[in-house]
Amino acid sequence: MKALVYLGPNKKTLDQRPKPEIAAPTDAIVKVSKTTICGTDLHILKGDLPSCQPGRVLGHEGVGIVDTVGKGVAAFKPGDHVLISCISACGKCMYCRKLMYSHCTTGGWILGNSIDGTQAEFVRIPYADTSLYRIPADSDEEALVMLSDILPTGFECGVLNGKVQPGSSVAIVGAGPIGLAALLTAQFYSPADIIMIDLDDNRLEMAQRFGATAVINSSDGKALDKVLKLTDQRGVDTAIEAVGIPATFELCEKLVAPGGTIANIGVHGTKVNLHLETLWSRNITITTRLVDAVSTPMLLNVVRSNKIDPKLLITHRFKLDQIMDAYETFANAAKTKALKVIIEA
Ligand SMILES: [Zn+2]
Ligand SMILES: [Zn+2]
Repeated sequence: MKALVYLGPNKKTLDQRPKPEIAAPTDAIVKVSKTTICGTDLHILKGDLPSCQPGRVLGHEGVGIVDTVGKGVAAFKPGDHVLISCISACGKCMYCRKLMYSHCTTGGWILGNSIDGTQAEFVRIPYADTSLYRIPADSDEEALVMLSDILPTGFECGVLNGKVQPGSSVAIVGAGPIGLAALLTAQFYSPADIIMIDLDDNRLEMAQRFGATAVINSSDGKALDKVLKLTDQRGVDTAIEAVGIPATFELCEKLVAPGGTIANIGVHGTKVNLHLETLWSRNITITTRLVDAVSTPMLLNVVRSNKIDPKLLITHRFKLDQIMDAYETFANAAKTKALKVIIEA
């Protein structure tokens, strides 16, 4: 089968690989129909994630059809149409029992990381019963690919951890796919203000279409002043960090109002200054989280009822044969205006 293989920092190739086989009774092999590329895949390609070793098939998002199942799989059978969660959960360990699937002692985020992933014709899914989700036959596959990772991530790490409330004010720093997913799902709670902050006018324009009440291009260094002006000098109740660099986290530290929450989503590669000299008295909360994908069943229902349309995040479409071009397009988002790219396997 064809698969996108990581070969070490800045190296990848579309190669022929053997079709995966059942390795444990709880495994399923899924024939991938649609997958995508995540910002995290670009981090891997930069060499930022040592857990992902050369030779690995990348990708942790997708939908497909169950091809074969191990003897221990009870909930799925060949032919079932499924959504693949980016998080594999055994369902039994201490963390899984606490619904912290991301910290599953034998699972978590392993797909396209420590085991082969979804950017291929077939993928082996461990703990299939608790890591796959059945989808109705008439579902829009492309929309559901957004539910493997980015929607649960934006919702759980940004909106839930950020305690977005009716009538509250929210600032989201970073209008990439994850920031936009947080924007879409923040609206479940009807906050009064959702201010999107980014350097890219195209992404801010998208944010406006997705329901942002104000957008700020922060390239002039005046984002803080502008947010204070929009919030009667208070700052925001929820500041969501959706980039993963020191400057954007430190901006959140300045944007948050007394009593507010900074919800980090970004993958940080370097240390960030924590300004306790200004924050110690402000009753704030700082949260971090790796997505647990516990909200996936809820999000499937929301998408089915057309309350949100995650398909709006898709800007480009490719065949698996063109996945090298898809990476080029996704990695050069400022130029190509790419958000999420769909790859048809
Ligand atoms: Zn991802
Ligand atoms: Zn577990």
